[in-house]
Amino acid sequence: MATIAFIGLGNMGGPMAANLVKAGHKVRAYDMVPQAVGRARDAGCTIVDSVAAAVKDAETVVTMLPAGPHVRSVFVESGALSGAAPGSLFIDSSTIDVESARSLHGLAAEAGMEMVDAPVSGGAAGAVAATLTFMVGGSDAAFARARPVCEAMGKTVIHAGGPGNGQAAKICNNMILGVSMIGVCEALVLAEKLGLDHQKLYDISSKSSGSCWSLNTYCPVPGPVPASPANNDYKPGFAAAMMLKDLKLAQEAAQTVGATTPMGAAAAALYGLFVGGGKGGTDFSGIIKMIRGN
Ligand code: NAD
Repeated sequence: MATIAFIGLGNMGGPMAANLVKAGHKVRAYDMVPQAVGRARDAGCTIVDSVAAAVKDAETVVTMLPAGPHVRSVFVESGALSGAAPGSLFIDSSTIDVESARSLHGLAAEAGMEMVDAPVSGGAAGAVAATLTFMVGGSDAAFARARPVCEAMGKTVIHAGGPGNGQAAKICNNMILGVSMIGVCEALVLAEKLGLDHQKLYDISSKSSGSCWSLNTYCPVPGPVPASPANNDYKPGFAAAMMLKDLKLAQEAAQTVGATTPMGAAAAALYGLFVGGGKGGTDFSGIIKMIRGN
């Protein structure tokens, strides 16, 4: 079992660090906000007071931070890359932009470290239950080292290709999700106006060519899928602010490489309106209310 540094103990990182302890690892955990460390401490992580103290003597460093600038700040300014033993493995599970991820891979290599970008899908519930999906970018050798660590925190671990490809997979997947959710919401609202029951449309489309995860598993109206957030007053689940963040990352990436993504752009604009209207903390399926006009 390894000594693992874990940096960023928020909604996702706290339970992920706890699952590494459950798997038998020694975890040295750090968060810049002292109030965030409770869950990790209760789970048996050793709480330390700096990035330097966390990475000292660790073979693996896991980061779970809000965005690219935070990861860079931990890697560079706070000294994770300079303080870890040469040859350590860095696993960044934050969702960040592809460019930053690739530039961090370069810095890690210069510092003599191995790195994977390994963003996750599955939300806070998946982080607690250790059922996350990891999308991993990096060399074959780095993936082989990262895999058992990710498996202690998740159920599915897929090598998406070279540096940055984990982040590429994450934003492409969430662009599909944002676009499909809006499509499903529009169809359900149209059905309402045409006098067609939600349940009837669900029964037909979930078995027809309109079938998709946003309808079948996460239906944005109460009734057809009892476990969906629509049945719980649109409490997240997956917050609209998070969806907006990922759609913006997809748009930035599309601009960088000259990809044409008009539906992704429309989804980003609609989620921008929804979040700008104060609904950032609502589940992303709650956008049906805005589409309905209330
Ligand atoms: P969060 O805001 O709850 O946690 C982030 C933590 O990082 C905070 O506790 C913060 O204090 C800490 N932090 C920030 N800068 C730091 C620094 N320089 N040094 C040490 N700690 C620092 O966020 P979260 O919900 O845990 O999400 C983390 C990442 O996972 C994000 O990139 C998010 O997009 C992604 N993600 C979240 C979900 C979800 O459902 N919450 C799902 C998939 C992916």
